[in-house]
Amino acid sequence: MTIQTRIEDAAQASKGIAARTNPDQVRHDWTREELQALYDLPFSDLIFEAQIVHRRWFKSNEVQMSTLLSIKTGGCPEDCGYCAQSSKFDTGLKASKLMEVQKVLAEAQRAKEAGATRYCMGAAWREPKDRDMDAICAMVSGIKEMGMETCMTLGMLSGQQVHRLAQSGLDYYNHNIDTSEEYYPKVIGTRTFQDRLDTLERVRNAGINVCSGGIVGMGESQSDRLGMLMALANLPEHPQSVPINMLMPMEGTPMGLSEKVEPLDFVRMIAVARIIMPQSVVRLAAGRELMSDEQQALCFMAGANSIFVGDKLLTAKNPEADKDKVLLDKLGIVSMPAHNCPSEKTASADR
Ligand code: SAM
Ligand code: SF4
Repeated sequence: MTIQTRIEDAAQASKGIAARTNPDQVRHDWTREELQALYDLPFSDLIFEAQIVHRRWFKSNEVQMSTLLSIKTGGCPEDCGYCAQSSKFDTGLKASKLMEVQKVLAEAQRAKEAGATRYCMGAAWREPKDRDMDAICAMVSGIKEMGMETCMTLGMLSGQQVHRLAQSGLDYYNHNIDTSEEYYPKVIGTRTFQDRLDTLERVRNAGINVCSGGIVGMGESQSDRLGMLMALANLPEHPQSVPINMLMPMEGTPMGLSEKVEPLDFVRMIAVARIIMPQSVVRLAAGRELMSDEQQALCFMAGANSIFVGDKLLTAKNPEADKDKVLLDKLGIVSMPAHNCPSEKTASADR
């Protein structure tokens, strides 16, 4: 085979891949078979396809940087089998009360100075109590005044609570579906998959951007992993932000001894998420601490374009800021400016 023929063959193959994916099309009718076919592509074809989609909607070297703070830690009544904050398991974690507003604002200011453009706050609650909503809303409006995007993850929400958060200007609400509908009861017994979908619907209908994804590495099958992505992609609107967590095994939890996810399987998951939710920011969330630089680089190539920065993720470890800076500099990655997600809803101030 001459070099010329080889180049022509390669060009032909690329056209074939480009023809299969229409990066302009946002679909909500994905089937498990289609996801499986994408997942099973030869690795470099899958990454190439993910890149076509990624470059259509995002700047190829921009990554959105969020910082996450636990505003209420531990003592949660839910029994999520992966979580160190559940009161159902003996994990040795000390429970604390909701942080004071001023302390949260001071932490947010520090994160802003360190380069974060979005401030995410998480509480170990099944759902917030109405009496906590004044403090929560004061945190949101205070951080918005600093010019950062805001995100909260507080568990299930009533319609009234969603309304209050929307009024306070909340940009994003995180509520993960965690796994496929079929595997869900093996992970959590105190609430249902449908409960999660109901809260997501309330948040979406209030005009708040949705952040929803899940976890891999909890003993689920590959089909469950794709089932989780399919459930997210077939929601009436794609979540604007899709965090893909790799399980951080927590001592004392039922999933504390789960087997590690094969690194290339994780990269394939990211690529499929990128292809089927083209306008969403795909976040490499928990578990980055357990990944090599090379695996993270492959995830970025596969279309991941959001990370948590800061050395703590609620109660788990995250790579240190200096280590992240070195890696991102090596890869030529820069911070995505706030409000740059193509599917993001109008700034909450205009709601
Ligand atoms: N209590 C709220 C809830 O569950 O929606 C908010 C906080 S919760 C800790 C936020 C998310 O963190 C969970 O939905 C889960 O996906 C993720 N998470 C918690 N523990 C984890 C672990 N050990 N490894 C990976 N992800 C984890
Ligand atoms: Fe509670 Fe959230 Fe942990 Fe589940 S994931 S136990 S709801 S803090």
